[in-house]
Amino acid sequence: MIVDPDCIFCKIVAGTLPAFKLHEDEHTLAFMDINPISPGHCLIIPKTHFANVFDGTDAPLAAVMATTRRVAVAVRDALQPDGMNLFQANGPAAGQTVYHFHMHILPRTAGDGLLRGGHGMQAGDKAVIAGHADRIKARL
Ligand code: AMP
Ligand code: ZN
Repeated sequence: MIVDPDCIFCKIVAGTLPAFKLHEDEHTLAFMDINPISPGHCLIIPKTHFANVFDGTDAPLAAVMATTRRVAVAVRDALQPDGMNLFQANGPAAGQTVYHFHMHILPRTAGDGLLRGGHGMQAGDKAVIAGHADRIKARL
């Protein structure tokens, strides 16, 4: 397991920094976000340190997704939000502030106005979309 001694999430894994832990298994840890965007906002991390989705390998990322689903079901059942977002950030331009990979579980209330951006509202140029699809597929 890779540990970065300066990383706050590695310190939470090690138990040297406190957290409201929700679930722990061999490869992952789930805990409450200390600055919640909405009630029940929590985070799921791999125990091994890597900064982002590009640096991660399949096994810890798969483990994070499995724990995310498990915790998401529990959040849904416990808090009964109107909806829920799962998201994670890669790099400062995407809003990443902690450089240990983490998935956010963000419970939503109808009309709460969080994560504004109006995505999915404006039809895109199909030629541009197809061009982007081709460029991405060429790398898969
Ligand atoms: P991001 O901006 O996607 O990198 O998310 C980092 C998240 O970690 C933010 O939502 C912070 O509120 C949260 N956070 C930072 N420090 C702690 C901590 N010690 N315990 C729990 N959550 C934290
Ligand atoms: Zn770390």
